[in-house]
Amino acid sequence: MQAFARRSVLAGVIAAISLLVWAEDGAPLSPAPAPAPAATKREAVSVRLPGAAFAAMETINPEHIRWHVRFLSHDLLEGRGTGQRGGDIAAEYIATQFAEYGLKPAGDNGSYLQKVPLVGITTLPETQFSLIPKQGPAMNLKPLEEYVAYDQTQQAQSDVEAEIVYVGYGIEAPEYNWDDYKGVDVRGKVLLMLVNEPPSDDPKFFKGKALTYYGRWTYKYEEAARKGAVGVILIHREDMASYPWEVVRNSNSGEKSYLKVEGAVLKVASWVQLDVARKLAKDSGMDLEMMMADARTREFHPVNLGAKLKAHMVSNVRHFESNNVMAMLPGSDRQLKDEAVLYTAHYDHLGVRADMPGDNIYNGAIDNATGCGILLELARAFSIAKDRPGRSVIFAAVTAEEQGLLGSEYLGKHPPVPAGKIALDLNFDAVPPVGAPEEVEVSGAERTTFYPWVQAMAKEFRLAIRPDARPEAGHFYRSDHFSLARVGIPAFSINEGMKFKGHDEAWGVALDKEYTEKHYHQPSDEYHPEMDFTGDSAMARFGFALGWEAASFTRLIGWQKGDEFEAARVKSQ
Ligand SMILES: [Zn+2]
Repeated sequence: MQAFARRSVLAGVIAAISLLVWAEDGAPLSPAPAPAPAATKREAVSVRLPGAAFAAMETINPEHIRWHVRFLSHDLLEGRGTGQRGGDIAAEYIATQFAEYGLKPAGDNGSYLQKVPLVGITTLPETQFSLIPKQGPAMNLKPLEEYVAYDQTQQAQSDVEAEIVYVGYGIEAPEYNWDDYKGVDVRGKVLLMLVNEPPSDDPKFFKGKALTYYGRWTYKYEEAARKGAVGVILIHREDMASYPWEVVRNSNSGEKSYLKVEGAVLKVASWVQLDVARKLAKDSGMDLEMMMADARTREFHPVNLGAKLKAHMVSNVRHFESNNVMAMLPGSDRQLKDEAVLYTAHYDHLGVRADMPGDNIYNGAIDNATGCGILLELARAFSIAKDRPGRSVIFAAVTAEEQGLLGSEYLGKHPPVPAGKIALDLNFDAVPPVGAPEEVEVSGAERTTFYPWVQAMAKEFRLAIRPDARPEAGHFYRSDHFSLARVGIPAFSINEGMKFKGHDEAWGVALDKEYTEKHYHQPSDEYHPEMDFTGDSAMARFGFALGWEAASFTRLIGWQKGDEFEAARVKSQ
């Protein structure tokens, strides 16, 4: 309520964008104001919502969000585990709400559900993993202590006996003029590589301190598979990974879930301890420290170690399925309605841990019943608007986020509207119900051509934009919007910052810390009646207004020139 005092919204906000950008991306919702003096190169960005949109937005109500959260995080839903009964009940609940709002099904065969085929892989103890250096005896590595490995082919057994080629960081990034592969044929090889990316303080080179997707281990596996390699061995060095070996070990023991295989994959996707890599290098007549130093230069060239990996991978393979839940509000414009704005929030959480005494239900109230409550409230508000925006609006509650963004990855690969025609994805993940926010986090928005409007809208809502405190941790790559960004769709999450009405920033920071330490991914992330959903409602309103803008622009939004996702966007169009 506090954000919009007037019936119609016009922010005479000055943003540093050129007249050319204005002319191309124009905001048709209000007449273009007279240009500011040309010498300043500044232009007004207007965020006027039409009356019907504003009226619909005004109905967004914190109590509606509360009731969705209360139900979705109830013990009866058993933690909404992927592929489990509670998760399926949550999906049915969301589908039922969409139906009640009169939204069009956007799933498979005229239903609200999009089936996501999943595979659970457990590497079994019969697996053998040996490194055979140029000289010296074979190193038969101990699982979990010295190495972790998964077979991505989703077969019960795979055998690899292949030469090991050291490829530095294993990155090919034309926009940074960086290529560790140098056109060397790595088909059938096992690639030894470093995690992270070449260190830099230059924001134009791998975004300086911030982590780009090239630094994530998932990219490295994918790139190697695309180039025909059969295996990857990542060298774990704690400072470079930014987490200790225990994290690698824990997230690589037990069952891991994947989408049913669709493209090139590795027979061996593995990590080894730093000391193992050092010994392998030494016994192959090389020096690991020097190899690491070489990798930091553009002149780096792949090196065949003259060593081999001999691996016998034995896995338990379990097929199962889950569903994304999707609905659509068709656009009002004859041409634009083939394009869409997308809202996403994951509904899955961690299920139940049967072997744990006491409360073993992972209710996931904040993570992410709150995002689902916001998504549903947005869907309801759009459905009652007297007018509709030109583009269609898609609402997607995605599954298997906690398994590695799998539901959204499937959605990105199988969108109901081609990715190149999706203007924007706005995602909501874990929005704490702790009161009225005075800040908003929209990390990644600054990389899109939509940012001036995001800034103007934030100003209109009296929300200060809070920058990502630790871009080097790569949070952008750890929520569902990323799955959509990687297929080119401009995408980011909307969340509250740390400053709330009636409190200082330290209060918000302390609450955030407490949540992370005590309740994040714990059974205690559960619903309490004293929760205050004002902030969730404010984020929903902010998202509503942004989405309506994006659904009404004459031109599609894009990633900024030189952004790591720009190429995917161009390719998709
Ligand atoms: Zn989570």
